[in-house]
Amino acid sequence: MSYDDDNIFAKILREEIPCKKIYENEYALAFHDINPQAKIHILVIPKGKYISFADFSKNASKDEIEGFFKAVGKIAEEQNLVKEGYRLLTNNGLNAGQEVPHFHIHIFGKQKLGPMISKN
Ligand code: 5GP
Repeated sequence: MSYDDDNIFAKILREEIPCKKIYENEYALAFHDINPQAKIHILVIPKGKYISFADFSKNASKDEIEGFFKAVGKIAEEQNLVKEGYRLLTNNGLNAGQEVPHFHIHIFGKQKLGPMISKN
């Protein structure tokens, strides 16, 4: 499977469609999820063209990986999520129900987040 340049997050990165931006560095962009599943629901995406975590962890450079994950930590700090706790989640592929084929991490916070995996 090759990277789809028309996926919605590629369009957000190219500023063809808007987002509610929270943070940006050389390697990452973070914005509010359009359909939040918690009081805080942020998406963090790498600027590079990676389909999934599997793709990113295998093919991204050390600088991209460091820049991306440093951004995730910084956003959690800046959003005051560290003290009360928060959850990171990434859906990788079919079994996880990944909808958008550009790697992203969800950050959930500002409420009790319940069980880790749905029983359904
Ligand atoms: P996935 O299921 O791929 O892990 O998550 C995709 C997420 O992207 C979903 O939570 C969905 O609400 C969010 N999303 C889809 N389209 C848009 C959009 O155009 N803008 C924003 N901000 N979020 C989106």
